[in-house]
Amino acid sequence: MSSELTLRIITPEKVVLDVTAASVRVPASDGSMGILPRHASMVAALAEGKLSYRQGTNAEHLFISGGFAEVRGNTVRVLTGAGETPSEIDIERARSAEERARARLKPRETGLTAGEAQIDLARASAALRRALARLKLKGYAG
Ligand code: ATP
Repeated sequence: MSSELTLRIITPEKVVLDVTAASVRVPASDGSMGILPRHASMVAALAEGKLSYRQGTNAEHLFISGGFAEVRGNTVRVLTGAGETPSEIDIERARSAEERARARLKPRETGLTAGEAQIDLARASAALRRALARLKLKGYAG
């Protein structure tokens, strides 16, 4: 049986990555999860954050914006809204997204109903988490 994994990261726009890897680590919604060859079949919900994979002695990292990971027969398929390598991450764009999200999280008069305001806050905090995770992966934020 193969001792390698196939890792595919798929967004609505494109296949971000299609590689073989010795191991994969995904940001599962309940904590970082390592996947080795011959892992049991599973589906896991993902949080926004860092996905890592190992090829020989090299470790590579990508930002993913959440979604799902499916493991079946030594193939890890990640379905996510967005995925970027560190070199693809636009720092200025992430900083602007962070600023916009923080402004939306400040208490202010919006004219929204309580329900709408709650949805807006949830979206703003998700946008903030994406921005911070992008900045963190790029090495510019704690
Ligand atoms: P923004 O408000 O800047 O669009 P976002 O977090 O809402 O940020 P996403 O919905 O996660 O953006 O992604 C939308 C598309 O834009 C995806 O193709 C994603 O790869 C790309 N993208 C978003 N932010 C960045 C960034 N800082 N650097 C590079 N690509 C980005």
